[in-house]
Amino acid sequence: MRYQRSSTLFNEAQKSIPGGVNSPVRAFKSVGGTPVFVKKAKGAYLYDADGNTYLDYIASWGPMILGHAYKPVIDAIKTRADKGTSFGMPTALETEIANLALKMIPNMNKIRFVNSGTEACMSAIRLARGTTQREKIIKFKGCYHGHSDAFLIQAGSGAVTFGSPSSPGVTRGTAKDTLLADYNNLNEVSSLFNQFPEEIAAIIVEPVAGNMGCIPPKEGFLQGLRSLCDQYGSLLIFDEVMTGFRLAKGGAQELLGVAADIATYGKVLGGGLPVGAFAAKSEIMKHLAPDGPIYQAGTLSGNPLAMSAGLAMLQALDSDEEIFSRLASKTEHLEIGFKEVLKGKDIPYHINRLGSMISIHFTEEEVVDFETAALGNNERFNIYFHGMLDEGIYLPPSAFESYFLNDALTFEDIEKTINSFRKVVSNL
Ligand SMILES: *Cc1c(COP(=O)(O)O)cnc(C)c1O
Repeated sequence: MRYQRSSTLFNEAQKSIPGGVNSPVRAFKSVGGTPVFVKKAKGAYLYDADGNTYLDYIASWGPMILGHAYKPVIDAIKTRADKGTSFGMPTALETEIANLALKMIPNMNKIRFVNSGTEACMSAIRLARGTTQREKIIKFKGCYHGHSDAFLIQAGSGAVTFGSPSSPGVTRGTAKDTLLADYNNLNEVSSLFNQFPEEIAAIIVEPVAGNMGCIPPKEGFLQGLRSLCDQYGSLLIFDEVMTGFRLAKGGAQELLGVAADIATYGKVLGGGLPVGAFAAKSEIMKHLAPDGPIYQAGTLSGNPLAMSAGLAMLQALDSDEEIFSRLASKTEHLEIGFKEVLKGKDIPYHINRLGSMISIHFTEEEVVDFETAALGNNERFNIYFHGMLDEGIYLPPSAFESYFLNDALTFEDIEKTINSFRKVVSNL
């Protein structure tokens, strides 16, 4: 049996780890079946516990943008490890990566490192609230900003309403400070500002949404958010945990030409080690401890192993002028190939893509927000996912996730993927 060993390992894991996994999407709940247990990975390939090989389209959900076990990153980690792995004291390495990151990111001149994207976003809203002395935030339905309480909020009955907790354990008190709007819908944001003109500390947004499949912002959407924030004295937070160091050196801010007040990072930034960060202008960052009163801290923040991995990753990305356009053209190749395969077939679909983020939704409607993303045919997606998996193509195990291409994928690998899709389509 193809997944025998994974299945055994999964059963074992479930005895000691809730659901057998340390992050829910890994459990294959939405697509069914047995999660694949990985043994190792190199370049574009994953190798599982049963000896199966896969072309990887999730890249650890983004970080492995240059492929797995990328040598300069691995070498940096090994070299650094010999000198000690944590001190709880500052190192010159932290300044070095901070300077390089700030050179790559537009509009910002200070950056604080943390250990995950969740922490970065959680800290960013505290910074925004402390700076503006306001309490409410606006987030968009279907955007994910990590699992801290303020973000685990979904809509109540009305389209624009107070949020209600989307997880037990999140208090109503927390939920009442998170206002919700539909992605790509400026009118809703505008009416929230009308309703609470002096209470909104910040808007937090994925400048290109990647947690409901890939959904690019409509023309003028981000610019509109920028103007509303300026008009009402609120801060604009770009959650670039996914898009940062992936869409361009300077992330979505650079690619789409809209400036945020605070930007959060993670994923690629850590080169595969646990790293997050938030960046802002000095006028805002001066309020953060120890310069100012807004508290934020971390025993392992700026950890030398993580910083050396991140630095090696940023150096590789910064020195390759073609990396982001190459990734985009590989992804475009995949998009064109998939569309060829689907041409004339009676399978409604929409493919959204921006740069090296892409996803397919099996629906007739254009996918512009959570509601339209949710119209996708789940049953068809599951057959597609498992068909591709059996072909040795590892895709995100949920229609609500973007694919992340990595530069180790060759055009031949992508052709192979398209051919696999051709076989799988006949079962859809
Ligand atoms: C992954 C992700 C996060 C959370 O990062 P973690 O490192 O998983 O905590 C936050 N925001 C966005 C946009 C993400 O994609």
